[in-house]
Amino acid sequence: MGVPTIGCDCAVCHSTDPHDRRTRPSVLVEYGGRAVLIDTTPDFREQAIRENIRHLDAVLYTHTHADHILGIDDLRPLSFRHKPNRLPLYAHPQAAEFIRNMFRYIFDANYKFGGLPLVEMNPIEGPVELFGVTFEPVTLIHGDAEIFGFRFGPAAYLTDHSEIPESSLARLQNLDILFLDALRYKPHPTHSTVDNSLRVVERLRPKRAFFTHICHDLPHEATNASLPENVKLSYDGMKLEFDL
Ligand SMILES: [Zn+2]
Ligand SMILES: [Zn+2]
Ligand SMILES: [Zn+2]
Repeated sequence: MGVPTIGCDCAVCHSTDPHDRRTRPSVLVEYGGRAVLIDTTPDFREQAIRENIRHLDAVLYTHTHADHILGIDDLRPLSFRHKPNRLPLYAHPQAAEFIRNMFRYIFDANYKFGGLPLVEMNPIEGPVELFGVTFEPVTLIHGDAEIFGFRFGPAAYLTDHSEIPESSLARLQNLDILFLDALRYKPHPTHSTVDNSLRVVERLRPKRAFFTHICHDLPHEATNASLPENVKLSYDGMKLEFDL
C-alpha cells in the first residue's frame, strides 16, 4: 500500500524520518551502461524522476499484482527512445498473458491513436541473458500463486513470497546481496515476516540481506537496530554496488 498508508494515523505513517516513506517495491540494475528494471510499480513515475532515470533497456516482471505492474504506462517516455524498436518486457508466460489482457490498449495493434508505450512482451520460463548478464527466474510461493524472483550474478531480488521452495533455495547459494520480502512481524497469508526471512538469511548466509515490501508496522530506525549486523531494511533510493 506504500507508507504512509492512505488514511492511517499510526506513528510510522506520521514519521519525520525520510526512510519511513516507502513507495512500492522495485529495483533498477545498472551495468555497462545498461539499465534493467524489475517491476513497474504505481509509483514508477515518481521513482524514475527521483533517480533521474534517462534510459531503460529492459523490464522484468516478478508477477502481476497491481503494486508491481500499474506503472507500465509511464514507460512511455523511456520506451520512445527505442524507436523504431520497442522496449522489451519479460515475464512468466501466464503473467505475460495477464499483462497483455489487462493493458489491451497497449498491446492491441488496432489501437490507432498513438501515445502508447512502445513495448514488446517476451514470455520467459527460464534464464534470460540481457546485455551479457544472465537473469535467472527463481520460483517463489506467494500465497497460492507461483511467481518469479530473480538472481543476477551474486545478487537476488525476491520480493512478494510466503515461502521459498527447496529447489529455489538450492539456487540461492553464495550470494553477496539478497533481497527478501518482510512485510511485518505478524503472519500474513501471502507474505514473509521479519522472523521468517531472518531464518532464510541464517540458512542461505548471504553476505548482506535487505528486507523489502515493508509495511507501516516496521519503523525504519528501530527495526534496523533490532536486526543482525548483515541484515537491514531497504529504503527508497537505496544504492548498492557489487560485481556483476
Ligand atoms: Zn500507518
Ligand atoms: Zn504480490
Ligand atoms: Zn507486492
